[in-house]
Amino acid sequence: MARCSKCGRKAVIRIHYARMNLCAEHFIEYFEGRVKSAVIKYGMLKHGDSVLVAVSGGKDSAALLASLTSVSKELGIKVKAVHLNLGIGSYSAECLKVIKELSKVLGINVEVVGVKDVLGVGIAELARRSGRPECAVCGLVKRYFINAYALTSRVNAVATGHHIDDLAPYALKNILLGNIGSAAKLGPVAEGVEDYLVRRVRPLYEVYERECLVYALIKGLPFVRNACPYTYVKGIESEVRLFMDSVDVKHPGIKLRFMRSIAKEYARWVSSEGYGRCRVCGMPSRGEVCGFCRLTRKALGVEAGPSVIKYLSRIAGS
Ligand code: SF4
Ligand code: ZN
Ligand code: ZN
Repeated sequence: MARCSKCGRKAVIRIHYARMNLCAEHFIEYFEGRVKSAVIKYGMLKHGDSVLVAVSGGKDSAALLASLTSVSKELGIKVKAVHLNLGIGSYSAECLKVIKELSKVLGINVEVVGVKDVLGVGIAELARRSGRPECAVCGLVKRYFINAYALTSRVNAVATGHHIDDLAPYALKNILLGNIGSAAKLGPVAEGVEDYLVRRVRPLYEVYERECLVYALIKGLPFVRNACPYTYVKGIESEVRLFMDSVDVKHPGIKLRFMRSIAKEYARWVSSEGYGRCRVCGMPSRGEVCGFCRLTRKALGVEAGPSVIKYLSRIAGS
């Protein structure tokens, strides 16, 4: 039986890249230390900031909310949480149930915003009416709602639960496809623009997915076990993911080093990114009208941006 490298008790995890075995107690300390040091090292948040965590019901965002809350006093930050109910049948119902439990376990209020309550339809119906893939519509809606909610609730940043195993395959896939600019966007911080684009930070930038899972299990955090019915598991990214997993087994920590190099490169690229404002709703847009207003015009016959912002301002102000 493997023993904890720090105290000699029974180990629950081996951290290959650090050549350490850790018991439950020392692993929690290790994980939260990684989150805290990433926040400081990459300048994600400063003393006095408030940060919004968007919790999906999955293990990664649950681990993010719990760990960030745990280190919030030391960092001098305030943590808020929101859950976007996507209206995807029994999957979203399970997510909502889990979120209510998570809120109880952590003693944190998680504001719930229902896409259906605002738009009258959920993701699947929006996708059907617009003729676009569910995940493309979902990504657009999530980005729009979370950005608008964060702006109306006046937080300094939104924290997302992306870890190394999300980011590294996506970055490498983009490099292989020649989209270097997209890979460069995967740094630990995406700066915002006052009034219409909130700053986004990734406190799990230096942790692996299995570490999030073990952290959530030890802490007893509830999370959904079933995947969304629209999860797409084929394609280049999943092949790249398998390739990177096997390389990381032979060369522990190679994914981590890869993401650190992206973080370095990222600083050179990010300044070239430019957004304008949607002429309908005032939110970030690369064209005259933002993607969300175009999507809802096609699916619902109305550009719904302004009514979503009004709705979210009411919730954030209540
Ligand atoms: Fe949304 Fe697609 Fe993820 Fe389901 S799998 S939650 S539709 S992005
Ligand atoms: Zn120990
Ligand atoms: Zn718009």
